Amino acid sequence: MRSPGHSPTSAELHRRRSAVVARGVSSMIPSYVRTAGGGTMTDVDGREWIDFAAGIAVTNVGNAAPKVVEAVRAQAERFTHTCFMIAPYEPYVEVCERLAELTPGTFEKRSALFNSGAEAVENAVKIARHATGRQAVVVFDHAYHGRTNLTMALTAKVMPYKHGFGPFAGEIYRVPMSYPFRDRRSGADAAAYAIAAIEKHVGADSVAAVLIEPIQGEGGFIVPAEGFLPAIAAWASSAGAVFIADEIQTGFCRTGSWFACQDEGVEPDLITTAKGIAGGLPLAAVTGRAEIMDAVHPGGLGGTYGGNPIACAAALATIETLRELDLAAAARRIAETAVPRLLALAAKYPAIGEVRGRGAMLALELVVPDEIGPLGPVPDPAATAAVARAAHEAGLLLLTCGTYGNVIRLLPPLIITDDELDRGLTLLGQAFAASETTAT
Ligand code: PMP
Repeated sequence: MRSPGHSPTSAELHRRRSAVVARGVSSMIPSYVRTAGGGTMTDVDGREWIDFAAGIAVTNVGNAAPKVVEAVRAQAERFTHTCFMIAPYEPYVEVCERLAELTPGTFEKRSALFNSGAEAVENAVKIARHATGRQAVVVFDHAYHGRTNLTMALTAKVMPYKHGFGPFAGEIYRVPMSYPFRDRRSGADAAAYAIAAIEKHVGADSVAAVLIEPIQGEGGFIVPAEGFLPAIAAWASSAGAVFIADEIQTGFCRTGSWFACQDEGVEPDLITTAKGIAGGLPLAAVTGRAEIMDAVHPGGLGGTYGGNPIACAAALATIETLRELDLAAAARRIAETAVPRLLALAAKYPAIGEVRGRGAMLALELVVPDEIGPLGPVPDPAATAAVARAAHEAGLLLLTCGTYGNVIRLLPPLIITDDELDRGLTLLGQAFAASETTAT
């Protein structure tokens, strides 16, 4: 028991946590949050952090964004839950209206709402299989689509996501991704290579869906070479397969557009969204062509909480905020400030093999300088972890990612101020210096 007025420290909370929270759920930093907002977070020990994580690309409008807070409060006062499958309500319908407007393509669309990204991906696959009467799902190297049984099978990386958790779902086929830093292929060549693999190993007329992240997230912020995405989408269309864009990490202005597909003029048949959609509340969606979505029989899709009214109210306030503050433009401005700073770091530290990304989804891939191995430039996960650790010690919330654990990623909230962004980038530079990564 704690005495009245005593606020537990992070160390105390960590002791309590260790006794009751499962070890499999780990945290990046040992500090416990008290408040977060703008581009910062304050922990219970009173320390301020610069936020380059946005809760993994969730709080694009910031944490505790005023309109979101007000919408959540007002909706909670009206009603918290009825279950849309029992007694429907307007905010659900309105979110689907917004999704129909905002997602690429002017064709008639339908949406279904869920709780998490993984649940949206699972449902997109269910819908594609039902609509096509086919079973095979094509996914890519380095893909990440979630941690449920089906989405683990769709996800590429074994450790930590799949290790010991099998057996996995069948009829999933993985093909090579365009990864310009490593495969050195043009978009057209990389697409031809992937398509040949699909045709040989799966067969065009067996493919229910081709599922792809327009820019891969957990797999390493891999931006496919220009032309790859449209070529894959065109092939899916010619094969009668459903082209599903997983925009769970890239969506809602993160890359400087509402959706990353738009940058290459791609109109997916189905698009999965979550994360940035609702300012931190759990909400996810599958949106797409009416004829595909409506192939499923009434009652075939749903769930107790999917499209919870508070989450829907938060989504509507989030979308309004993204529009009003033009946060797509803010994401592009973040890139304008950050990319030259990251390139300057790359000029200083030969371990930085590539600076890449789009908008406020930026990354540094770390390699062993001047060494080429079977994967191309030799990944350096140890240096990556050392930089991340040094950043955390300096008060910067910084994530890593990548199949090889060698990518540092920047995902600041889109409302981060110029000063906070500058401070965060300065801390990142200091983290490189402190981590003893060799400078030129
Ligand atoms: N797809 C992508 C592209 C993601 O980045 C994520 C989450 N990192 C997911 C799916 C799974 O989302 P969730 O964690 O909400 O289940």
